[in-house]
Amino acid sequence: MLTRFAPSPTGRLHLGHAYAALVARELADRKGGSSLLRFEDIDHSRIRTEFYALIEEDLQWLGLTWEGAALRQSDRLENYNRALDRLRDHKVIYPCFCTRRTIEDEITRMATAPHGPEGSLYPGTCRVLSTDERAGRIARGEPHAWRLDSERAGKLCGDLTFHDLRSGPRPVHPGELGDVVLARKDIATSYHLAVVVDDAEQEITLVTRGEDLLPSTHVHRLLQVLLEYPEPLYLHHELIRDENGKRLATRDHALSLAHLRESGMSPEAILDRLPSVPAC
Ligand code: GLU
Repeated sequence: MLTRFAPSPTGRLHLGHAYAALVARELADRKGGSSLLRFEDIDHSRIRTEFYALIEEDLQWLGLTWEGAALRQSDRLENYNRALDRLRDHKVIYPCFCTRRTIEDEITRMATAPHGPEGSLYPGTCRVLSTDERAGRIARGEPHAWRLDSERAGKLCGDLTFHDLRSGPRPVHPGELGDVVLARKDIATSYHLAVVVDDAEQEITLVTRGEDLLPSTHVHRLLQVLLEYPEPLYLHHELIRDENGKRLATRDHALSLAHLRESGMSPEAILDRLPSVPAC
């Protein structure tokens, strides 16, 4: 069993991260397996370099260890590019020239825009462009992202499921998040593509992460099949919330591990405060 904890170096860890790291470590330990640390740092506009070391320090202080050196997604852009090429060969991605503004305008114009778990989905504007128009706009240097054609991908993959250790087998809905971006205009990859490539290439067998990411797993299963990657198991764990029921954000310092540590809390007291790791 190989698990991973994958924080973004955009701030210090908080109690929610501590729980995610604990789930990954404890489930690996229970099965005599290992756990890896991966920095999700492709979004260069949000990361700050000092947080790589501070995150490792927070984890060490908590007593949560990992095997080997931490992987950085920013070192692996070539790998993501290769995967994108393979998806292009399958004709399941298309260039999207839309801006945030044109997408909003299109959604307002449409009588019934597609909807997902967190609001409107991409309305499909660029999905219907002709091959010539795409080629012309790319040749003219027009900035473009690459989106998954979720309907086509769903048809190619057929009926799929993923297996969540907390809630059991679930059918994959190819359109759950619509035509998601797989390569952003500015960074040539995206969370969805990078995480699927890394989990496969690092041979992760159990993906543990917060239940807020459950909708993404529908997309990830499609990508795994299209890229001929093995299917990992999943465990989407509960999220840690503050006293008002709001999930913790990196900018809320009150429940950061650094703050709790400075206020005299011990690592044991912090771990005790977290929910127990699901039995599975
Ligand atoms: N970076 C994500 C987070 O901190 C984790 C994504 C994942 O584990 O797939 O929530």
